[in-house]
Amino acid sequence: MFCMIQAMQTSMTFAVDNRLPEILDRLRTVYPARVTPLTDPLSQLVFAVTAENAAPSVGLAVYNRVKATFPRWSDLRDAAPERVAQLLVGVPGAPAKAEALPEILRLIEDERGVIELDFLRRLGTDAAGRWLERLPRVTAEIAAAVLSFSDLRRPVPVVGRESARPLRRLGLAPASAPMSALPRHLAEKAPSDWGAEEFGDLGRGLTRLARAACADGRPACGGCALRDLCPSANRNSGDVLAFPGRKAAPAKAARSA
Ligand code: SF4
Repeated sequence: MFCMIQAMQTSMTFAVDNRLPEILDRLRTVYPARVTPLTDPLSQLVFAVTAENAAPSVGLAVYNRVKATFPRWSDLRDAAPERVAQLLVGVPGAPAKAEALPEILRLIEDERGVIELDFLRRLGTDAAGRWLERLPRVTAEIAAAVLSFSDLRRPVPVVGRESARPLRRLGLAPASAPMSALPRHLAEKAPSDWGAEEFGDLGRGLTRLARAACADGRPACGGCALRDLCPSANRNSGDVLAFPGRKAAPAKAARSA
């Protein structure tokens, strides 16, 4: 599993990609960050597991429904999965998430004696990420989101399935790099003074770009604010469409898509 703090440490020894500050500026202009209050790490964890792979508005609505139904985490801990699943309608993987959420809270309480994650503030970024990734359904991406988007504010790249697309096409990571290696590649190329805000805004901006233009298939480069910075812009070859574990779309099919 990718070691986040190693990535930050190695960022000093790799060449910074000089496009990144400009890429970030443009993404912030085109996709302004929504002002969201920072939450404690446990709230962010429950939100991230609940909303994983859901449209942002759906994920937030479902999380708010869970929170309104179970105002105390101990209520969710004791809830039957069938009851939780009723609240998760609309998010992908609802039955599995309904099993996992109470289990996550039980495991945290078993290990820490309380249902909270404030102890993570005393851990280094790498140790905190590894602790989180031991929990059910907590991927490297979810762990990074907890560390970056909660009030822990750790400077870690958050790379998801969608943001991985423009990230690879922009050449910020090799096209063949596995998902687990993408945060490391990004950290290696980022300016050494980037913090949680920069990495967070970049990740959110790339995700929104992926949905708006850098589609899964043929990207709509004509409307992309990064096209003059992107080596894949307007390429017609299958290269731009191919990702690990996925066959490149035939050129003819791509053109008619
Ligand atoms: S120019 Fe095209 S390939 Fe490059 S990031 Fe923009 S949409 Fe994606």
